[in-house]
Amino acid sequence: MEYLSNLGAGGSASRPSLFELVAQDQMRDLLQPAVRYVMSVYAQRYPRHLLRLVNKHDEFFAALMLVVELHYLRNWDASFAENFYGLKRSPAGAPRRVRKGASSTQRLSSTQIWSSLLVLVGLPYAKTKLDEAYEQVSGGAGSRIFGDIFAEQNTPPPADEPPSARIRRRGKAAFRMLYPYFNAVFQGAVFAYQIGYMYGKTDYYSPWLHLCGLQTRRMSMKDYADQEDRQRLAKKAASTALQGASQLRIMRHMLAMWLSKGFDYLKHALPMAVFFFKFLEWWYSSDYSNQGSTKPIPPPPDLIPPNPAGLAVPADPTVCPICTSPRTNPTMIPSGYVFCYPCIFKYVDEAGKCPITWADTRTDELRKIYSM
Ligand SMILES: [Zn+2]
Repeated sequence: MEYLSNLGAGGSASRPSLFELVAQDQMRDLLQPAVRYVMSVYAQRYPRHLLRLVNKHDEFFAALMLVVELHYLRNWDASFAENFYGLKRSPAGAPRRVRKGASSTQRLSSTQIWSSLLVLVGLPYAKTKLDEAYEQVSGGAGSRIFGDIFAEQNTPPPADEPPSARIRRRGKAAFRMLYPYFNAVFQGAVFAYQIGYMYGKTDYYSPWLHLCGLQTRRMSMKDYADQEDRQRLAKKAASTALQGASQLRIMRHMLAMWLSKGFDYLKHALPMAVFFFKFLEWWYSSDYSNQGSTKPIPPPPDLIPPNPAGLAVPADPTVCPICTSPRTNPTMIPSGYVFCYPCIFKYVDEAGKCPITWADTRTDELRKIYSM
């Protein structure tokens, strides 16, 4: 196992293994359903304020992550999930071993921050929207089952179709055809980079990091110390700047400080939300949630009344209505009546209905009843 976990390290202590990077990727993927779940729970309680947010969840989540990631990129040179796993981004080609005393932490430039944001927030958002559009254009799983898609493809377009509608229809058809290939190339590129990274062929974990010219590194003690220094310096600078400042400026500064504190707190809150979400998922799928509940047992479905033209129900419930002798091999059909297996199989096979209620019945709906 040691060999495997060291596979991605490639000899350098600051190079994170593939497993750390995959873990932070997965955490990011879990955030969205977790946030959506928490939001929908609260939306039931406060529908007036939150329902609109839940309906526009993709946009809301993208906006939320934009603010969060911007904060983390500015303060920690890392995305939220990377920071959670103790990773950071650094410009490619930065010296791996730095002379003592020199500042080892090369900060991200604002171009790198914004390109990171584009990849971290813009790309997943665009992908979700494209997936949604594809699902719509391809008709979704439902219409694939019910066959709408074939009906639409096979009906010739009307002769007097306006040009704008024709362009839209052809665009849709092209998108429907090309998107799976695009998706395959997209996933394939990500996968190829991961394999390459694992075997030390590339220093970039994903094609997007390559495009941004950024590599991921483990945070060192020095990085943490530098971060603390920066915070201290910023605090000092702010307090000297605020001396004799107006009330309004002080208030604004306090607000910004609280907001920043709040974002740092998210590092603990969002993973908690993920674990809470996973816990609920497990809870509702487990038997524990059903135990001790005092839900009343639903009433049995109504009996289907016998058809006046059908066979009479015998007074003795152990007698088969078809052969009117004691049942052998008792077998039930969906209407609820019980017969001998040979009698009812022959009847249903020929008539396709229940002999008593005349409800439609098929031979594969016969059920053997266990008897002692
Ligand atoms: Zn019988």
